[in-house]
Amino acid sequence: MTRLRHALSFVTAALALLFAGCDESSTVLGEARSNSAAEATSSPPAAALAPLAPGPDGKVRLSEAEWRARLTPEQFHILREAGTERACSGAYWRKDEKKGVYHCGACGFALFDAASKFDSGTGWPSFTGPISPDRVINKVDTSFGMIRTENLCARCESHLGHSFEDGPPPTGLRYCMNSLALRFEPAPPARPTPSPAPGETTK
Ligand SMILES: [Zn+2]
Repeated sequence: MTRLRHALSFVTAALALLFAGCDESSTVLGEARSNSAAEATSSPPAAALAPLAPGPDGKVRLSEAEWRARLTPEQFHILREAGTERACSGAYWRKDEKKGVYHCGACGFALFDAASKFDSGTGWPSFTGPISPDRVINKVDTSFGMIRTENLCARCESHLGHSFEDGPPPTGLRYCMNSLALRFEPAPPARPTPSPAPGETTK
């Protein structure tokens, strides 16, 4: 009996962790938002990834060895082996107010505008749709006994995540992406109104 109770409490604790994992983090959301250095530690190595120029057919094609050289082992697993990162583990799962564009983490193709990002509560960065439909390839995925729509980068055909028909307006879709499959590029700051150069007179 005692053993059963122990087992039950273990299961309860495991379930609590499973469902409350993100909630725990969201209580320190404000702190995390203001601490960009902390976020940077879990960000993909953006500096190493200059966008790849597509060929005449608009595609980027690298060998497995070339992808391995370009990506971290974690990125390679997600992007080239259709892996899935742990919920709430990535750099981008929180909804924030940043303006900019999320690019493919493998080739640098612009995929999602930050304006389409929403808080899905799943622990993965979620968008209502790509910048344009031709940026993402939809593919039927029957792994794990489920029928899902897998999303690939249209330029390099790297795995990004899956999309579901339970998203908010305007599309009703939820593109559930892996942070490690994306690289965020903030929008340039708004240009200040030109001021006269020193010594220049304003007439
Ligand atoms: Zn790509």
